[in-house]
Amino acid sequence: MKLVRSVAGVREALMGPREAAMRIGLVPTMGAFHEGHLTLFRTCAGECDVAVASLFVNPTQFGANEDLARYPRDLDRDMELAEQAGIDLLFAPGADEMYPPRFQTAVEVTELAKVLEGASRPGHFRGVATVCLKLFNIVQPTVAYFGRKDAQQVAVIRTLLRDLNLPLELRVIPIVRDADGLALSSRNAFLEPDERRRALALPQALQAGLEACRAGGSDAALAAARRILDGAEGIDVDYLAVADLDGPTLAGAIRVGSTRLIDNVLLDEEPT
Ligand code: AMP
Repeated sequence: MKLVRSVAGVREALMGPREAAMRIGLVPTMGAFHEGHLTLFRTCAGECDVAVASLFVNPTQFGANEDLARYPRDLDRDMELAEQAGIDLLFAPGADEMYPPRFQTAVEVTELAKVLEGASRPGHFRGVATVCLKLFNIVQPTVAYFGRKDAQQVAVIRTLLRDLNLPLELRVIPIVRDADGLALSSRNAFLEPDERRRALALPQALQAGLEACRAGGSDAALAAARRILDGAEGIDVDYLAVADLDGPTLAGAIRVGSTRLIDNVLLDEEPT
C-alpha cells in the first residue's frame, strides 16, 4: 500500500490506472479504523481495480464545542489495517493541503442539512459535502463507498452527486455492529464500561422500533423506541425521529457522558 500526503501525489499515482480505464474506488474516512471501515475497504477492494481510502479528520465538519481535538488518531495502526483490508493507496493529507491559505469555497445541500444531525450540528454537512466534493475531484473515483451508519450523510452525498451531476457511483454498506448490538464507531473508544452499557439503549430502542413498525407503521416505531429511551438511565436523547434518509429511517442520537453517538435502522428492511 502506498501512503500519499499530497493532492499532486494522488493524481500522479492514479494517472496510469485512469488511462487504463481501471475501476477506481474511494472510501472517505476520518481514521481510527474499526470493522466498519474495514468492511468498506474489503468491499471496495473486491469490486475495484484500485482501492483508495482517504484519512482526514476534517476540521470544517466539527463544531466549535465538538471533539476535534480528542478525535482518536493513530496513523501507523491505520496504515497496517488498511493494507491488510486491501487498500492500495491511502491518501492522508494535512489540513494545509486540503485547506490552503485563502480557501473560501463551500458547497451546501440546503434542506437535508437542516434536520436531525444538521439541526444538532450546524455547519456539519456543509463541511462534509465540501470535503467529499474535494475528495471526489482529487481522486476522481468510479465509485465511492459510504456506510449506512451515517444515514443522513449518505442522503446528503446522494443529493450532492445528483444535484451537481457528479460522474460517480455511490455504494452503501449496512451498519456493522458489535455482538451486543452497539454500532461500531471510532467514538466508542471514549466510552467507559458503564457508559458503554448505557449506550446500548440506543440500538435496543431502534430494534424495538423496527419490530413495532412491522405491525403498526412509523408512528408505532417512534413510540416504541421513545419508550425505551425514556426508560433508560444515564443518557441524554438529542433526537429520535423517522425521516426519509435514502429510505424510511428511524434515526437517533444520544449523549452518554461526554460522548455523542448516532445510530439508525431502515424501516423497510426485511426481517432477518
Ligand atoms: P468515519 O471515519 O467515522 O468518517 O467513517 C468513514 C465511513 O465509514 C463512513 O462512510 C461511515 O458511515 C462508515 N462507517 C463508520 N462506522 C460504521 C459502521 N459501524 N458500519 C458501517 N459503516 C460505518
